[in-house]
Amino acid sequence: MSAPIVILGTGLAAYTLAREWRKLDSSSPLLLVTRDGGGFYAKPTLSNALANNKTPAQLQIKSVEQMAAELKAEIRTHCAVTGIDAQRRQIILANDDRLAYDRLVIACGADPFRPPMEGDGAGEVQSINDLDDYSRFHAGLENAKSVAVIGAGLIGCEFANDLATRQINTSLIDPAPWPLSRLLPEAAGEQFTAGLQATGIKFCLGTSVKGVHKTAAGYRLELADGRQLSADRILSAIGLRPRTALAQAAGIARQRGIVANRLLETSIPGIYAMGDCAEIAGLILPYVLPIMHQARALARTLAGTPTTLGYPAMPVVVKTPACPTVVCPPAPGTEGTWQCLSVTGGLEARFLGQAGDLLGFALLGSTTVQSKALAAQIPALLA
Ligand SMILES: Cc1cc2nc3c(=O)[nH]c(=O)nc-3n(C[C@H](O)[C@H](O)[C@H](O)COP(=O)(O)OP(=O)(O)OC[C@H]3O[C@@H](n4cnc5c(N)ncnc54)[C@H](O)[C@@H]3O)c2cc1C
Repeated sequence: MSAPIVILGTGLAAYTLAREWRKLDSSSPLLLVTRDGGGFYAKPTLSNALANNKTPAQLQIKSVEQMAAELKAEIRTHCAVTGIDAQRRQIILANDDRLAYDRLVIACGADPFRPPMEGDGAGEVQSINDLDDYSRFHAGLENAKSVAVIGAGLIGCEFANDLATRQINTSLIDPAPWPLSRLLPEAAGEQFTAGLQATGIKFCLGTSVKGVHKTAAGYRLELADGRQLSADRILSAIGLRPRTALAQAAGIARQRGIVANRLLETSIPGIYAMGDCAEIAGLILPYVLPIMHQARALARTLAGTPTTLGYPAMPVVVKTPACPTVVCPPAPGTEGTWQCLSVTGGLEARFLGQAGDLLGFALLGSTTVQSKALAAQIPALLA
């Protein structure tokens, strides 16, 4: 039998690709290898599970057996890939077994970035980037009355809002002067802050966490500006770093992520990269919509029709019911200015280029309904 297409991972990128490819090829062998349990879940549901009354177990949509049957694939679970032998077209497993591939797709995701912190509690700071992380965090919430969230980006704000719905005293700490600082201009950031504050969330902005110390009741956070905070649990959400080590060891080019061209092919022919681990055409976009576009394009390529990846403007919904928000940031490095308009129950921020053309936006509250119409006016990110 010919070697299968091998997908490294069973996250959203891997499973979406497998589904798209199976639509085009119903019989060629397919193997997915993952170091986790392989159950299918939608990662975005982790940060609004409390509000939706979902336990970690309820977040799993399909078991690995169901996925294997649906995809007509073999799925190897709890099986870490430790190397790629590109010359022999084989992946190497932790037990030194080797598995041959016809073509290999790396969809191994990203690691949460951990800030350096002092103190005997620093090692107990949690981060959530998969269902297992979330299960551990959720188990610790049972007796928790307060949680400190480090990082007021998209993920940190979503978790803070979700915790606040359970009447957990929640603090958000970030060095920037307003939350979502890379996605919102100042006026929008202020309105967003007010919305979250109304749920009881406390902001510690313009500072960072210097140390975490254990106390009899939980933890004491020492902030760089001298303030002190206490919390029963601490969640770090300060960003992700694409997992590039495997690719790098195999001689595949990497920059911030695994470098891939618009066919999603890496520097080694026959090896592709997608999802949170990949830097495609210079862009790292760790969101669901880019993954959908990548999966459709790569599925066609793998099925024999080389297909160049295109990205339209792709707004991201921030799951903060305390201040519903949709962002569509301008392409990195774009020159322009923000123009903000406050309206009843919301705010519309448009990012305009030098010729007055719309290049990005942020919509809060009542203005979020305009998201689709505005996105249609924005030039494609990859035409
Ligand atoms: C809390 C949270 C909320 C989010 N909300 C949104 C949202 O609302 N909208 C949005 O657009 N995006 C959101 N995102 C981002 C989005 O969920 C991710 O971009 C997407 O899920 C990434 O999928 P992935 O398959 O690339 O990575 P992952 O889902 O991380 O999958 C990586 C896979 O690789 C496997 N793996 C890694 N290393 C190895 C190895 N050495 N050997 C074997 N297997 C390995 C892992 O086990 C896993 O199966 C959110 C992210 C988080 C964390």
